[in-house]
Amino acid sequence: MKNILIVGGAGYIGSHTVKQLSNSGYNCIVIDNLIYGHKEAVFTPYFELADLLDKDSLDRVFKKYQIDSVIHFAAFAYVGESVQHPRKYYENNVVGTLNLLDVMLKNNVEKIVFSSTCATYGEPQYIPIDESHPQEPINPYGRSKLMIEEVLKDYHQAYGLKYISLRYFNAAGCSKDKDIGESHSPETHLIPLVLQAIINQDKPIKVFGTDYDTPDGTCVRDYIHVEDLAIAHQLALEKLDKYSGCLNLGTGIGTSVKEIITAAESVTGKMCPIEYAGRRNGDPAKLFATNNKAKNILGWSPKYNDIKEIVSTAWDWELNRKY
Ligand code: UDP
Repeated sequence: MKNILIVGGAGYIGSHTVKQLSNSGYNCIVIDNLIYGHKEAVFTPYFELADLLDKDSLDRVFKKYQIDSVIHFAAFAYVGESVQHPRKYYENNVVGTLNLLDVMLKNNVEKIVFSSTCATYGEPQYIPIDESHPQEPINPYGRSKLMIEEVLKDYHQAYGLKYISLRYFNAAGCSKDKDIGESHSPETHLIPLVLQAIINQDKPIKVFGTDYDTPDGTCVRDYIHVEDLAIAHQLALEKLDKYSGCLNLGTGIGTSVKEIITAAESVTGKMCPIEYAGRRNGDPAKLFATNNKAKNILGWSPKYNDIKEIVSTAWDWELNRKY
C-alpha cells in the first residue's frame, strides 16, 4: 500500500481527498498545523501536527514514514486578508512550500500534486478560461499560488520533480455521507453564507453587486463539488509518472449569485433574506472554466453538474454539522 502525504489534510478539500484516497486503498498520512484545519475531519489514524515553516518537524515525518508522493493543500486563502497582510501569505504559502520541496528532495520524494486556483488568472480576458489564459493575479493570494506554479515548473526542469498543479474554481458541497464538510472561520463563501441566512433569518445574505455585465447583474462563478475535486486529486496522483503540468478543475458551467440563492430556496423550501450591497473589491463579473484538458489528461469528468444537487449536499451538512 502506498503512503501518500497529505499536507493540509485537515482542511476542506484536503479532508475530502484523504477520504477518497483511503477508500481507494491508499495509506494517507496527514500533516496539518490545525490553524484552520479540523482534527475531526481527518479520516486516517496517521496524523502529524507539523508546520511548513518548521523544516525539522517536516523532516521527522518524512523519516517516520516511507512517503511515495505528496498532495499539498496547506495555504492561507483569504483574498482580502492577503491584501492587508501580504507578508503572512508569502511566508506561509511560498516559503512554506519551498521548505516542503526542500524536505521532499532531501528524502528523494519526487512527486507532488499542488492546490492552485483560478485566482492565478486574475481579471479574465476571455471566457471560458482555459489553461493558456494569461496569468495576471490581482491579489497576493493569487500571486503566492502562481509563484509556486512557476517554482514547480523550474524544479521539474532542474531536478526532475514530477508535479501537477490543479487550478480549482469555486469548491462547494460536502461529502455524501455527511461526515465532513465546509467549515471556515470566518466563513466568507457564498453557499454556506446563503444557507446560514436561511437558517438564521435575522442575518441576510449580502449580495455583492447587482450591476455586473451578466444576465441578472450578479457575479457568475463555476461551482465544483468537493468530491469531484477529491477524485481529480486521486487521478492526478496516478498520472504523475506520465504527465507534469497545470489543469483547471471546474464544471464549465457558470452560475450567478442570484441563481445560487434560488437553488438554495428550492432545496430548503425556505426564503433567503437578502440585502443588496455594493461590489466587493477584486471580483470579476464572470469566471468559469473549460475543463477539457483535465478530461483529456486525467479522464476526469465532474459527477455533480446540477447546482441544486451541489447545494443540497451543503444543506445536509449545515443541518448536521460535526465541526
Ligand atoms: N458573494 C456575495 N456575498 C457573500 C459572499 C460572496 O455576493 O457574502 C459573491 C461574490 O461576490 C462572488 C461569489 O459570491 O461573486 C462567490 O464568492 P466566494 O467568496 O464564495 O468565492 P470566490 O469567487 O471569491 O472565490
